[in-house]
Amino acid sequence: MNIHEHQAKEILKKYGAIVPAGFFSTSVDDLIEKAKNLKTEKYVLKAQIHAGGRGKAGGVKILNTLEELKNSANELLGKTLVTHQTGPEGREVKRLYVEESSNIEKEFYLSCLVDRASSKIAFISSDQGGMDIEEVASSNPEKIITTKVDIAEEISDADCESVIKIFDLKSDAKDQAISLIKSIYKMFISTDANMVEVNPLILTKEGKIVCLDAKVNFDSNALFRHPEILELRDLNEEDPTEIEASKHDLAYIKLDGSIGCMVNGAGLAMATMDIIKLYGKEPANFLDVGGGASKEKVSAAFKIILSDKNVKGILINIFGGIMRCDVLAQGVVDAAKEINISVPLVVRLAGTNFKEGKEILDNSGLKLISAENLDDAAKKIVEAIK
Ligand code: ADP
Ligand code: MG
Repeated sequence: MNIHEHQAKEILKKYGAIVPAGFFSTSVDDLIEKAKNLKTEKYVLKAQIHAGGRGKAGGVKILNTLEELKNSANELLGKTLVTHQTGPEGREVKRLYVEESSNIEKEFYLSCLVDRASSKIAFISSDQGGMDIEEVASSNPEKIITTKVDIAEEISDADCESVIKIFDLKSDAKDQAISLIKSIYKMFISTDANMVEVNPLILTKEGKIVCLDAKVNFDSNALFRHPEILELRDLNEEDPTEIEASKHDLAYIKLDGSIGCMVNGAGLAMATMDIIKLYGKEPANFLDVGGGASKEKVSAAFKIILSDKNVKGILINIFGGIMRCDVLAQGVVDAAKEINISVPLVVRLAGTNFKEGKEILDNSGLKLISAENLDDAAKKIVEAIK
């Protein structure tokens, strides 16, 4: 789960990091009222969307007066911002953040994430932070260093030193940076985060180490342990089909292809996506209906797949284990009664109650294409949507 910059800064602050003073609002009048109480030379107005690259896309503005702030806020609120992270459709700006301006001496890059390969936490740091970090990563990768840290209660001083070495800080600023690394590590572990990114992390002209931007992603599977974090979820920023899927406890991820996939088991779902690609098409989604799915759950999943306008055909690939093929078949038939299925449907069933499942589908009046195995199924669905 992602959260907004202002929420991420709030959490960082709780763990001891320095962030600029600021506030968020969803209306311009309210924003101006609150801005009157902000002690700052200039106002920094920032669009709150779950995507970076705002600076280059006009989503971050530095303004001299309340008048300017008001004009820019009016312009930005409700605007669809297209950044290199939003995709071409962009994101509508529904909330704004205003913070005090900082006097930037230097911009650094700092992030922290789970490194699955080593089962450690990786800190990534660079002295070339700011809006061009992607460019630095491709042209000067040696300017970006990774420090892998063992998972423990606390991070060691030696590891902190390695992370910040590239910042080349002196005395007090160095101590502040070390303390920040400790704060971020603590926050990362305590909140079950997947990723914390501060870009830019800055050294101010006054010698302070400040988090000027913040992005955090949490492990959704651990959110039950953090109700206060779950409250920060902004459904405006999420794909409606994924929201619907999460209500039914379905593992669903929307993709860009044209073949909808209804599969049980994450491994089988991955294999199904792979073989669709092998035959030259792209999957429209990843979906694992799970082990013991009810027919209601199957029906919900089927409707979610069909609600995607890009779906030109559906491949049902079920291996009946704990999940019984007849339950799946009934779910599909129930869903089909409520919505008109106008795309080809290829079905491959195997395993528990396969015969009963096939009978339900054969007697349903639905126009189906039966497949013998996974290979046959993929070939047939690709052929059917041509
Ligand atoms: P994004 O990463 O989405 O482009 P940032 O929050 O990183 O947005 O802001 C982009 C740039 O704007 C920063 O690299 C920094 O130079 C400048 N900036 C952001 N916040 C402030 C601030 N409070 N004071 C001064 N400059 C800022
Ligand atoms: Mg940034």
